[in-house]
Amino acid sequence: MADKKVRVRFAPSPTGGLHLGGVRTVLFNYLFAKKHGGDFVLRIEDTDQNRYVEGAEQYILDCLKWCGLTPDESPVVGGQYAPYRQSERKALYRQYAEKLVMEGHAYYAFDTPEELDAKRKEIPNFQYGQAHRDELRNSLSLSEHEVDALLDAHTPHVIRIKMPTDETISFNDMIRGHVSFETNQVDDKVLLKADGMPTYHLAVVVDDYLMKISHAFRGEEWLPSAPVHLLLWEYLGWKADMPQWAHLPLILKPDGHGKLSKRDGARLGFPVYAMEWYDAKADEFTPGFRELGFLPEAFLNLLAMLGWNDGGDQEIFTLDELIEKFSIDRVSKAGAKFDYEKAKWYNAEWIKRESAESLKSKVKSVLTDKGVTVKEDEYLLKIIDAVKERCILLPDFYQQSAYFFEVPKELDVNSVKPKWNEAKNDFFNVLIGLLKDEASIDAVAFEAQFKALMEEKALKAGDVMLPFRIMLVGGKFGPHVFDIAALLGKDETINRIEKALIVFNS
Ligand code: GLU
Repeated sequence: MADKKVRVRFAPSPTGGLHLGGVRTVLFNYLFAKKHGGDFVLRIEDTDQNRYVEGAEQYILDCLKWCGLTPDESPVVGGQYAPYRQSERKALYRQYAEKLVMEGHAYYAFDTPEELDAKRKEIPNFQYGQAHRDELRNSLSLSEHEVDALLDAHTPHVIRIKMPTDETISFNDMIRGHVSFETNQVDDKVLLKADGMPTYHLAVVVDDYLMKISHAFRGEEWLPSAPVHLLLWEYLGWKADMPQWAHLPLILKPDGHGKLSKRDGARLGFPVYAMEWYDAKADEFTPGFRELGFLPEAFLNLLAMLGWNDGGDQEIFTLDELIEKFSIDRVSKAGAKFDYEKAKWYNAEWIKRESAESLKSKVKSVLTDKGVTVKEDEYLLKIIDAVKERCILLPDFYQQSAYFFEVPKELDVNSVKPKWNEAKNDFFNVLIGLLKDEASIDAVAFEAQFKALMEEKALKAGDVMLPFRIMLVGGKFGPHVFDIAALLGKDETINRIEKALIVFNS
C-alpha cells in the first residue's frame, strides 16, 4: 500500500442539491490528493434510477467549478479508467455478482415486492438476513432444480450478499481508528438489482478497485455500509488493494443536535447547499452559498474548518495553504457544529483580503443587477477599496456603494432637520464657495479646510459632520466622509450639498 499512487474519488449520486457536507468531502479528498501528488477522480454513482434527478450531475460539475476543485478525471474530461458514470459501466458489474454466487458468498433472491411487503407486515423490524432468509424464496432455501427453472424462465431476481454468521469484521479508519462490526446485525444487502443495475454497495467496491482508488474519504453516514464493503473486498479477492478509509464527521445543526439538514437552513435562514438548487418535482428553489454572496475561497476556508484545524490559531487559509497543511489525522471524530455567523465572518475576512481587481466582476454584477450603471472600471476599483471592509456578503456592496454611482434616493432627514439652523446652512453655503474655487478635492486638504471653517464659524464637528455625511451618502454609514467627497469629485459633492440644502431648509 505504501508505494501505491494516491488516487481519491468523490462519488456523488446525482439526486439533488449539493449539501455543504458533500463539498467538504470533496475538499478533503482534493486536499489529500494534491498534498500527495495524487489524482482526484469524480465518479457519478447513478445506478439508482428511482433517485436519479435530471440536471443534478451538471449541477455537481458546476459546484466543483465554482469552488475551483477541478477533478483530474471525470465524466467530462475522461481519463484512463473511463467511463466515470456508473450507469455506463452497467455491463461490467454482473460478472462479479455471479462470481460471488458461484463461490457461495451471494445468492439469487426471487421474492416479489408484494411478498417482501407481506413479510414486513408480519415481522416487526424485518431484515432480509440470517434470521429469515430460509423462509424466503432464494437460492439458499429452494432446491437447485427449482432455482434453475426460475432462472430459465427469466424470473425477475436480485443477487444478495450472504452475510456470514457470528463473525466480527473490522478495519482501521484513518480518523476513527479501529472499527468493528458484528455480521449478525447486518442484513443481506442487494448487490445486483432485477434490472441488472448494481446497487451502490457492489458498484462502489468494483469501481474503487478498477479505478485503483488508494484512499476513500466519505461521510460518516456511510459507516454502517462498511462491513458489506469489507466483505466484498475480501470475497472478490482484492483485500490487499482495499483503499484506506476515513469516515468524515457529520456537520451538525447549530445547537449540536443532529445532522444539519436542508430544512434547518430554511428554518434558521441560512444556506445549506453550495449553489442554488431547483427541485422541479416540488417546484422549490433552495438558495446556495454562492447566490447569497459567499466567495468560493471563503466557502472552502469555512468548510475546511468544520472538523479540521492545523493545531494553531490560524483561521484564514488559502487553498494552497490548505493543501500544504492538511492532514487527515487532524480531522476530528466528533461532529462539527455549523455556525452561520462564523461562516459570514470568514466571508467578510476574505472580502477584505481580496484585491479590488479580483472582486471587480462580482461587485459589478451585484450593482448592475440592482440597476446601478457602472461606467468606468477605474472608478469601480477605487470604490471597492473604499467600502470592502464594510461588506460581509457580496450583495452588501450594493448598500455600501450605490451612492457613489447615483444620488442617494432618500436622505435621512430625521437625523438632521430637528437640529438644523441658519448657522449650519450658512456653513454649507460658504463651503460650496470654497469648493468652487478649488480645481478638485484632495481628501486631506479638504478636511483641513472644512475644519478651519468650522472653527471660524464656532461650530462643532457634531454640528456639521453628520449633516455632511447624510448629504453625500443619504444615511449614517460609509467610510471617512472626506474620502467619500474626494471619490465623488468636486462637482458631484457640490451638487449633493446644494440638493440636500433645499430639503433641509424646506
Ligand atoms: N454514492 C455515495 C454518495 O452518494 C458515495 C459514498 C461513498 O463515497 O462511498 O454519497
